Amino acid sequence: MAVKETTIEIKLQNLKSNFKFLKSKINTDTKFMAVVKAFSYGSDSLIISEELEKNGVDYLAVAYVREGISLRKGGIKIPILVLHPQEEDFNDIVNYSLEPSIYSFRVLNLFFKSLSEKNIKKYPYQIKFNSGLNRLGFSENDVKQLCDKIKNNIPNYIFSHLGASEDLNETIFTRKQIAEFELISEKIEKQLGLTIKKHLLNTSGILNYSNYQYDMVRSGIGLYGFGNDVKFKTDLKPVLTLKTVISQIHHLNPGDSVGYNLGYTAKENTVIATLPIGHADGIGRQYGKGVGELVIAKQKVKIVGNVCMDMLMIDITGVNCNEGDEVIIFDDTNYTAEEFSKKADTISYELVTSLSRRIKRNILN
Ligand SMILES: *Cc1c(COP(=O)(O)O)cnc(C)c1O
Repeated sequence: MAVKETTIEIKLQNLKSNFKFLKSKINTDTKFMAVVKAFSYGSDSLIISEELEKNGVDYLAVAYVREGISLRKGGIKIPILVLHPQEEDFNDIVNYSLEPSIYSFRVLNLFFKSLSEKNIKKYPYQIKFNSGLNRLGFSENDVKQLCDKIKNNIPNYIFSHLGASEDLNETIFTRKQIAEFELISEKIEKQLGLTIKKHLLNTSGILNYSNYQYDMVRSGIGLYGFGNDVKFKTDLKPVLTLKTVISQIHHLNPGDSVGYNLGYTAKENTVIATLPIGHADGIGRQYGKGVGELVIAKQKVKIVGNVCMDMLMIDITGVNCNEGDEVIIFDDTNYTAEEFSKKADTISYELVTSLSRRIKRNILN
């Protein structure tokens, strides 16, 4: 059905189908953590988390504690890992039954201090190791000192994160990361004299390195329908579509300009349509001046001039369309967010997570 205003459609059938496909790539006893940070990659975290919980996902992951709190307030019961807790978060972490990812001695000390103030002896948490991404995590050199600190409150899991699992030109780097994680794991288990559950793979890790699934995998972008490689285009189905409408049509004469700072000047008679979506909605200025392409009446048209805060203009010269007609920015079949974002030299992740909260969401079952 055609939309009447700028609308993000969230297709839960596609989410379920992607979940099933990703699960088919791992063993039945490997747990599955769904990454629902950043409003579930721009969609709607609570709707997505509820649907995944209903379909048997084992764990959720968010980046920041506020994201975890809102899921708990929404009634989500399964374990939630907070990937990047901050200094003041540990009260909330415990109060809302969230599992922190502990990535440094500074954060470990804050966490243990908070537990001891609450008289809690054991509390579920996970330890993050840096195996080469150099973003967050303990290093191999920390293992000895770390084991001394954690021996009375053993983490549920240890994990690490791959930096180039989608890039098959970087397999040497990825293998090095895997070897580093295995070395750290062995060292820690030897020192503590027990085995600890592990996870390493993100979506592209699941697709390209499934031998290293260990006890759990973590998937974000794959659940939302992108496999970072054309070869998974038929297996994964985008969950989001973004559609808008034509607000007004203008007929320009040669020399007439469009938008702020005369971002576009017509060379000949040109027909322009104004759309109710702009950079405040997540279509950044990098898509302006002929870079971004949209689809109207099955034809590709270009964005002209500068993208405004709440609007953008497209060149519809020669296209058979009217005010009120639907315009596709990206959909789940022929013209996906991956393709739209590529024009502006970015990736589906950035495009979908930038979509503003003010855009109407329409949940389709
Ligand atoms: C965001 C994130 C993921 C999800 O990665 P995808 O490529 O979206 O599957 C997994 N693990 C960590 C640590 C992350 O930060």
